[in-house]
Amino acid sequence: MIVNQSGPNGHDDIAITPLHAVFDEDECARLAGLGEFTRGVALALQGRVGDLRIRPSSASGTVDGDQLTHTQLSVIDGTPGSTCTCPTGAVEQFCAHAVALALVATGAIDPSEDSDDFDHTDDGFYDADGQPIDLRDFLESLDGPALVDLVVDLAAVNDVLAMDLREAAARWRRPHPIG
Ligand SMILES: [Zn+2]
Repeated sequence: MIVNQSGPNGHDDIAITPLHAVFDEDECARLAGLGEFTRGVALALQGRVGDLRIRPSSASGTVDGDQLTHTQLSVIDGTPGSTCTCPTGAVEQFCAHAVALALVATGAIDPSEDSDDFDHTDDGFYDADGQPIDLRDFLESLDGPALVDLVVDLAAVNDVLAMDLREAAARWRRPHPIG
């Protein structure tokens, strides 16, 4: 399967190299596992990948995370490989740095894009530790009145949300009083 990388951000003229064909997002997620993949996406979005060198069947770069790593990707006979100077890479695991390098090298993530274009991820935002923000955890931490204030405030500046809420309210029936 070859994924067409063309999109609204000017990658239309990139040829599909072995690197592109092998290191797509699905394959990176499969190789790395969810935890490393998520960290890698965050590193890529934060622009931590530097010194990028891309060839048709390999790529190398540095990733400036907890430590500066030197990371390489290769495709040999269609098989993905990676090396990295971090502890995870040392045991030949596909680490977060390899994920970050792959996503930037193939153009899946362009860290120079506006930071509001985060549609590669489920929730799209990360806290200061690079962890995905758990919207449900946040909302459940609010008590009822604070939650109502938040939603009403958001509806005041978001017409789509306000319309959806009015629709939901129109279907709502005040519960019968008990007793
Ligand atoms: Zn690594």
